[in-house]
Amino acid sequence: MKKHNFSAGPCILPQEVLQKAARAVTDLDGTGLSLIEISHRSSEFVAVMEKARGLVKELLKVPENYSVLFLQGGASLGFYTAAINFMKAEGGKSAYVNTGAWSKKAIKEAKLAGSVDVVASSEDQNFSYIPKDYSIPEDADYFHYTSNNTIFGTEFHHIPETHVPLICDMSSDIFSRYVDVSKYAMIYAGVQKNIGPAGTTLYIVNNDMLGKTGRNIPSMLDLTNHADKDSMFNTPPVFAIYTSMCMLEWLKDLGGVEAIEKINLEKAKWLYDEIDANPLFKGTAAKEDRSLMNVTFVMTDETHKADFDRMWNQAGISGIKGHRSVGGYRASIYNAMPIESIQVLTRIMREFANKYTTVNP
Ligand SMILES: *Cc1c(COP(=O)(O)O)cnc(C)c1O
Repeated sequence: MKKHNFSAGPCILPQEVLQKAARAVTDLDGTGLSLIEISHRSSEFVAVMEKARGLVKELLKVPENYSVLFLQGGASLGFYTAAINFMKAEGGKSAYVNTGAWSKKAIKEAKLAGSVDVVASSEDQNFSYIPKDYSIPEDADYFHYTSNNTIFGTEFHHIPETHVPLICDMSSDIFSRYVDVSKYAMIYAGVQKNIGPAGTTLYIVNNDMLGKTGRNIPSMLDLTNHADKDSMFNTPPVFAIYTSMCMLEWLKDLGGVEAIEKINLEKAKWLYDEIDANPLFKGTAAKEDRSLMNVTFVMTDETHKADFDRMWNQAGISGIKGHRSVGGYRASIYNAMPIESIQVLTRIMREFANKYTTVNP
């Protein structure tokens, strides 16, 4: 039976991308050698790395003075990497907005590098909204935010205004929409939410802002070092980068981020419209801050929950159980999720409501 994969991460990838990646594992472009058994310094793999980096630059219109790097350690290492590359060694000071579990983790790591000013938080309402009224100290070395809160289903629909360098963890919404990269000192993202398999982390960093902290940074965490070596300082995660390259090619063929943004808006609207119209469900995030990638919702009455769970299971839906800190359901509808799968989910929700409400909505 066809599966409808709503997993929050690692995420759904297009079948053609999976098939191309699978072929490359046995034979990379007719070389007779596997992608994962050749030297990362071979011309074949260097071409893959350059193509992947080039596609990032092209799709997001990355300015000339930025480096695009595919590193390791996940966004979780990105938290500390960001802090240590941007916070001054002497009197280092950073500002963060706390919009959920990932922001919190970023804050925790940054405290290892210097002082952290949490300028706003939505923890008072279980991270169900994006704070908007706050000011960022002018003397902060940078301001950090999480553009999409994968667990809580909220998303920034604006770029925060600030005069200090802006850093963003864009793990779960990068490439879902157009972003003006020139506004950022750095963007980083674990690729497994919207670009590829787990194993590599994308960094897009303004070279002019690197190397200014006065710190001795360990080589593997030093972005200047990685930028100087064109993302090949050590053996890169070749499979994750190759698959990401295939996904970015898929996105380009589709019309790029501008095209996917339209599709993503339509997909999210389809699902939120059902949640709002259906008497047995309600959304958990403030309407104006709703994520286009992770749609969180709960039941208004859990009496027949077991039956609903049986219904969607039988329809081939997987991965919609909510995170334990929110409960209910979370449908992750990343770039590769077709609207047809969302329509299967909304049909089940509608059938469920028709079964258990006396007056049909
Ligand atoms: C998943 C996620 C992370 C953690 O990514 P890893 O690559 O697993 O370290 C960080 N931030 C956000 C917003 C995420 O969704």
